[in-house]
Amino acid sequence: MSDVKGGDGGELRALMARVPSVERVLASAEFEAVIAAYGRTQTLAALRATLDAWRADAQAGRAFVDALSDAQLARTVDAKLAKRTRSNVRSVFNLTGTVLHTNLGRALLPDEAVRAVAEMLTRPANLEFDLDTGARGDRDDLINGLICELTGAEAATVVNNNAAAVLLTLSALAPRREVIVSRGELVEIGGAFRIPDIMSRAGAKLREVGTTNRTHLKDYDEAINAKTALLMKVHCSNYAVSGFTKEVSIAELAPLAKARGLPVAVDLGSGTLVDLAQWGLPREATVRETVAAGADLVTFSGDKLLGGPQAGLIVGRADLVAKIKKHPLKRALRVGKLTLAALESVLRLYRAPETLAERLTTLRLLTRPADAMRLAAERIEPALQRMAGETFTVVSEPMFSQIGSGALPVDVLPSYGLAVRLASGKRAGGQLNRIEKRLRELPRPVLGRIADGALRLDLRCLEEADEAAFIAQLDARDAREDARE
Ligand SMILES: *Cc1c(COP(=O)(O)O)cnc(C)c1O
Repeated sequence: MSDVKGGDGGELRALMARVPSVERVLASAEFEAVIAAYGRTQTLAALRATLDAWRADAQAGRAFVDALSDAQLARTVDAKLAKRTRSNVRSVFNLTGTVLHTNLGRALLPDEAVRAVAEMLTRPANLEFDLDTGARGDRDDLINGLICELTGAEAATVVNNNAAAVLLTLSALAPRREVIVSRGELVEIGGAFRIPDIMSRAGAKLREVGTTNRTHLKDYDEAINAKTALLMKVHCSNYAVSGFTKEVSIAELAPLAKARGLPVAVDLGSGTLVDLAQWGLPREATVRETVAAGADLVTFSGDKLLGGPQAGLIVGRADLVAKIKKHPLKRALRVGKLTLAALESVLRLYRAPETLAERLTTLRLLTRPADAMRLAAERIEPALQRMAGETFTVVSEPMFSQIGSGALPVDVLPSYGLAVRLASGKRAGGQLNRIEKRLRELPRPVLGRIADGALRLDLRCLEEADEAAFIAQLDARDAREDARE
């Protein structure tokens, strides 16, 4: 390479004279494809920036004359624009072992939901238009019937997420009044959502009862006074209270609330619509059971165990839901047509429970047979070993996945995947971080989890349809260790 030092005036001037004219470079054959891909405006700006950077390098005495050839400029500009054009929102491979990963977008939508969303995106729809009467309609009416059918509730409404559902419920039913919650249920869900904070934001006053580990019915009873608006129970989504504990069930709380003329609201968190035990998964109270046990209102997420889009569902007594829907915040927290289309289509799958484990993506991943994951691990292992290079050993082995998103926090699901360890047997974190980073920098980033001296890639969420693309990207030349060093 002809690396030319700048520095003294004459040489630098000679160097600058070699910078080609922007117009001529743009008109060169090498730039045809770049302009076709990105348009003239962006290409011109990127070329100017490239030449400016070259001039700055020349002044600093580190410019390469080769970098000014039309072909090299086209490559540089193309790479710049490709990076700039790449979407910030990108798909990744979730091999963390957490199926409903909040940071990775939680539930994945089944194909029918994707088709329903695509249709809503491109065609006008009866979002708030009653096709029977020709009059204005209510967007909630598009799916209320289905939600009530699946939960046994009298009425339902949908908002942006479950945090919004709780905020709206408290704002509508308990402004400037007291809400009684057990000290064992003052949950924080990942940073910003904490029951005491939501409560004060909603203008309600939290009345804590019981202790962290034990709360009795008489604690609720004694706390009720003229200012009480609501008795509330919150699902301990991301922790478990075990040992010497006592919690008051909804079935016990409901008669007390009824006798004192107060509603019971339950923040169920994940809110599953079916008994997961039928697929060998840990049991979790369903929304229907919660309603049947006497909850007057139940709030839950659309994108946790339900397996749908981000949404918050509020179901329960018709008079209370009507009051909630009239609150001004409902307008601010309502969902859009894409959410409604996706949610309706996912809810419809629940009408055929016998095909649910195959058609509902979340459930399909949660119930994935260990054998399928083991075979996938064996197929992928050689490619991952080639990519990792001989510094590392790649072994396919059993591991444990989690449901995630605060669903069934203490339960783990036996799974299978690939563990990457240092061949030296050392547990040096830096080296593992390096391979973790290389996987994260692939065109479709691969995300695993480092623990106990190994980087683990849990294959539960890598379905067979994606496997070939996964292996191909590991085998691509620039992914491999030997291509880097
Ligand atoms: C997850 C969760 C929330 C928050 O739900 P989002 O849909 O994430 O807003 C609230 N309460 C409980 C108990 C939860 O588990």
